[in-house]
Amino acid sequence: MRTKKKKISESNKINTKKILFVSSELAPFSKVGGLGDVVGSLPAAICKAGADVRVLTPAYGSANGKGGVLDKVRDFKNKLRKIDLPVVVALSGIPVYCAIYETEIDGVITWFIERPDFFSETIYPSYIDANSIRPFSLLNLAALELYRAARWVPDVFHCHDWPTAILPIMLAWHNYYSQLYTNSKSVFTIHNLAHQGVFRPEGFFYQTGIDANCFNPHGVEFYTNINLLKGAIVACKNVTTVSPAYAAEIQTYEGGAGLDGVLRTHSAKLSGILNGIDTDYWNPETDKNIVSPYSVNDLSGKKINRGELIKRCSWEDDERPLIVCVSRLAEQKGFDLILSAMPRLAESGARYVFLGTGSSNIEDGLFYAQNVHPGEVKFFKGYDEKFAHLIYSGGDIFLMPSLFEPCGLSQMISMRYGTVPVARAVGGLADTVVDVDSGNLSNGFLFHDYTRDSMFSAIERAIRLFPDNVKWAELMKRGMQTDFTWNKSALSYLDIYKT
Ligand code: ADP
Repeated sequence: MRTKKKKISESNKINTKKILFVSSELAPFSKVGGLGDVVGSLPAAICKAGADVRVLTPAYGSANGKGGVLDKVRDFKNKLRKIDLPVVVALSGIPVYCAIYETEIDGVITWFIERPDFFSETIYPSYIDANSIRPFSLLNLAALELYRAARWVPDVFHCHDWPTAILPIMLAWHNYYSQLYTNSKSVFTIHNLAHQGVFRPEGFFYQTGIDANCFNPHGVEFYTNINLLKGAIVACKNVTTVSPAYAAEIQTYEGGAGLDGVLRTHSAKLSGILNGIDTDYWNPETDKNIVSPYSVNDLSGKKINRGELIKRCSWEDDERPLIVCVSRLAEQKGFDLILSAMPRLAESGARYVFLGTGSSNIEDGLFYAQNVHPGEVKFFKGYDEKFAHLIYSGGDIFLMPSLFEPCGLSQMISMRYGTVPVARAVGGLADTVVDVDSGNLSNGFLFHDYTRDSMFSAIERAIRLFPDNVKWAELMKRGMQTDFTWNKSALSYLDIYKT
């Protein structure tokens, strides 16, 4: 019996795929949007499904192993160990030594690369050129050099969005690494096609050691510029994106952001795998960031959070539905519809709470709306993880009228907290929100045309149904009971790693 067991576990070990996630964000330590959430929760789910997944990410803002990301890691009671050997990479022909810190988070070995002169507090440069992306060149090169210090060679490098698109390009066209890694492959996930990493080629090939011959229309070139996303799509073994609907949309002229032709050419290796959320972290029953916990069986705590949110808005409690929105303030998120519909929204019989930061035009527009309609509109400018939890739990309706939405996590988080989404049927929103008029599985309100009238009539439908306590509670509960875990998608990733 024992021998048999041993054999099975040995063979499992031999067959276990070794996957290195390389990412510019990792929630909760460094997060700008959904990418951070995904890399913060997907690896643990894939580990549980049967692979050996590890993560490499920058230790932003850490001088001498202190401050920034590394301190946040310690704040979460994770033990950090500096590994014995540094990672040394050649950047523009000069050796760069990087310290690597190791910890284990939810069973996932996670490595932080420390070079304060490369990785400051700011994750993304405001302007992209070969010089400003040097930190990401360093991160990708370090991922390929890490095997010496970590004594662990990945079978698969799983890269995410343009900052780590450099790695698949290096596996295909780097003068040295393309020869070294003949048994490893790259999987590339597009979290948002809108950001492609496009810049003039001068300096980039010398900086990274990538063979400049790949600067052609079948390689990394895109209308005389480098396009990192395009290069990765061409170079990697598998491309995934974060929802089935988005996988289809990005192959169309309207949704392809200029890369639809490239994606159609490579459609055989493209698949859409729906994102999940960390349902332990986003859990109204245990959430320490909210005032009162609640569950699908006892929703009374939600009212208390609602009251607290209304207090934070300096409003009096009343029966009007609270329509909330936690978002990057970017055009993609549909703020032109919201701002242009503002006079009607203010008279719609609901109140609106926004939390976000980003485009100054949108920030100005929301402040203006708040000044004109102080009893109906409240805008909290900023990025506030803790307050976001209170908003998700205290709202009645979550507004997400995106122009495009690769997957969207906010609508899933809001449903988990019983806050019913009003969303545009696009990308992952179309894959996760089921309109109230579509029968038994309904969990929200959808609209199709990207117009303020269309958005407004979906909001009106929600406002009209809100006073029907029985039907509304059914909607809330169906959302709360929807399976947003990574379980199913983790198996799909395992399949991709094996191909
Ligand atoms: P995207 O990745 O396009 O920003 P997603 O819906 O996929 O959109 O993910 C957004 C994530 O970022 C969610 O976890 C959301 O709660 C969080 N988020 C966005 N803006 C803020 C903010 N101002 N404060 C706190 N969390 C925010």
